[in-house]
Amino acid sequence: MNHEIADVKKQEHVLACLSSAPSNTKIIRTAAMMAEAFNCRFTALFVETPAHSHSAPQDKQRLETNRKLAEKLGANIETVYGEDIPYQIAEFARISGITHIVLGQSSVTKRHIFGKPSLTQLLLSYVPELDIHIIPDKATDTTYHPKKAKNNNNEKFLKNAVKSVLILLGATLLSLIFNEIGFTRPNIIMVYILGVLLTSIVTSHRVYSLISSIASVFIFNFLFTEPRFSLSAYETGYPVTFIIMFLTAYVTGTFAIRYKEQAKQSAKIAHRTKILFDTDQLLSKAENKEAILQTAGQQIEKLLGRGIVMFDNRERKLSDPMLFPENEKLSYDRAKELAVAQWVLEHNHIAGATTERFSDAKYLYFAIRLNERVYGVIGIDAKNGALDASENSILLSILGEAALALENEKNAREKEAAAILAESEQLRANLLRTISHDLRTPLTTISGNAGNLMRNSESFDEETKQQIYKDIFEDSMWLANLVENLLYSTRIEEGRMTLNTSPELVQEILDEALLHIKPNIQNHNISVKTQEELMLINADAKLIIQVITNLVENAVKYTPENTEIIISIEKEQNMACFKVADHGNGIPDDEKERIFEKFYSGKHKIADNRRSLGLGLYLCKAIVEAHGGTISVNDNKPMGSVFCFTIPLKEVPVHEQISDYGC
Ligand code: ADP
Repeated sequence: MNHEIADVKKQEHVLACLSSAPSNTKIIRTAAMMAEAFNCRFTALFVETPAHSHSAPQDKQRLETNRKLAEKLGANIETVYGEDIPYQIAEFARISGITHIVLGQSSVTKRHIFGKPSLTQLLLSYVPELDIHIIPDKATDTTYHPKKAKNNNNEKFLKNAVKSVLILLGATLLSLIFNEIGFTRPNIIMVYILGVLLTSIVTSHRVYSLISSIASVFIFNFLFTEPRFSLSAYETGYPVTFIIMFLTAYVTGTFAIRYKEQAKQSAKIAHRTKILFDTDQLLSKAENKEAILQTAGQQIEKLLGRGIVMFDNRERKLSDPMLFPENEKLSYDRAKELAVAQWVLEHNHIAGATTERFSDAKYLYFAIRLNERVYGVIGIDAKNGALDASENSILLSILGEAALALENEKNAREKEAAAILAESEQLRANLLRTISHDLRTPLTTISGNAGNLMRNSESFDEETKQQIYKDIFEDSMWLANLVENLLYSTRIEEGRMTLNTSPELVQEILDEALLHIKPNIQNHNISVKTQEELMLINADAKLIIQVITNLVENAVKYTPENTEIIISIEKEQNMACFKVADHGNGIPDDEKERIFEKFYSGKHKIADNRRSLGLGLYLCKAIVEAHGGTISVNDNKPMGSVFCFTIPLKEVPVHEQISDYGC
């Protein structure tokens, strides 16, 4: 049962209707209280009518204050466009799942912004299922009526007046011609109606078409009705004709004006919708943080036609400002503006010009945020005044979209980093597991053998002792080589593999490698084939020796005792080619590539208890490639494998070879 109540509560959604009326604050507060009591969503809606653009500045300002109040009280601000206010509210309520609509009493009876007195009835007829709350307010300012902006622009007035007079003169001239030709009165009336229609189209206010309609009636009466050139008329029907003429002219003109305003409004909406749509598209294509901020900045600049400054959030510090348009100059007190932007970044709150905080700033700053996370700050040049409600709501949508895109980009980056981390963690875990396992066996053998020698050395005959010494030696050599390989691979992984290269003779490197390897090989026959021609390479000798050691150790490890291992060096074009050939079982084709992978130690384990870590060839490949060479494995004939690695030869003039290397 309680769950049911909770469910019902969750679905409640309170809507406050925004207006520029002083009493609107009470409506907003009541709606906010209701939303709090229901613990539900709260939206404040403003229906922008075509007439809104002509509102007086103080009304616009009050609307702005009301909008801010609603926002402060937790409302989601929305703007819809249309002339039929109750219809727009009802449509919005239906689409957004509103359950309670809060209106002011003044809105119902006398508010212009909510139009007709029948707003509640209309609303009820559109959405009878909703609760409509009418808020009585004794303190309502009954003298309040929304005012139109005063057109104190004399030049504009003069222009409109001249246009109206010229049209009227034109209509009169045409009518005089018609009269001369002998056209009937109704034709002349039509000419005047056409004149009023034209006036309403070319002028910016309906007062001109009103005056024009009245003037048309008087001129028609004066010039074209008997007695002519007087304002009286003989025919009894004329007063009716005049009234109908006036009404037709005026109504036609009014419709033309309304149509013009609607067309303007539609164009504005289409422009804004297009910007929103484009923003969506562009943001989805933006690949990184910078591109997202650039897109948002450009689109907002297009939307508002004002200078924009954007900052990225770099660990709670502002990035360098990005300016839109690009050639925009920050001509104000930079340090002061940056301080406001920094405040917005830290407090996740709007501030700057036209707000209560830092109102002396030149820009208005918004946080680009998603919930509590601030991704950046945008500043909007406020020299042309505050943003209107619809600009504000579209701006917030674009900022919301940008923040979402930034969040997605951040998530993608974090996921990638987590995947890399997981991979390296996994590798590290693998490495530790494998190493611990691999170290244990030889260490147990070494410590066991050494312990035996310590405790029972007298009881062992010489041959057994030699065998034990040999085992200890072999195991420790293996361990030493493993540690060497491990150290090199960690250096590769951490990107610290720096080559200490110097010009080296290939033959000398091989000799040194054999010096290390040979003492440890007792049960295989090693043969070496070198070339007469001396080859010089630029290499880190220690690393190349490690490669040869690994290859030969493998050949020993993976081939039967007493088989032959042939080590050779050849010159192949401009490369020195090292080859280690054995006569073991060879490597199946499907493993030839994989054996160079890290920790890959082949499908077919060897019978010998030799340990296999899968690092040797991985390291060989890394070292050879770091020297600009390649490594590969082929089948040996009749059996076994041939490992071959190449290192670029160093070009040396003949005289240098002789003098430097004494050959
Ligand atoms: P490890 O020898 O520690 O396993 P390596 O990277 O040196 O690691 O070798 C990878 C695998 O390649 C070996 O486990 C083995 O299966 C195969 N392999 C290497 N050298 C030879 C060889 N000469 N003959 C047959 N198999 C070999």
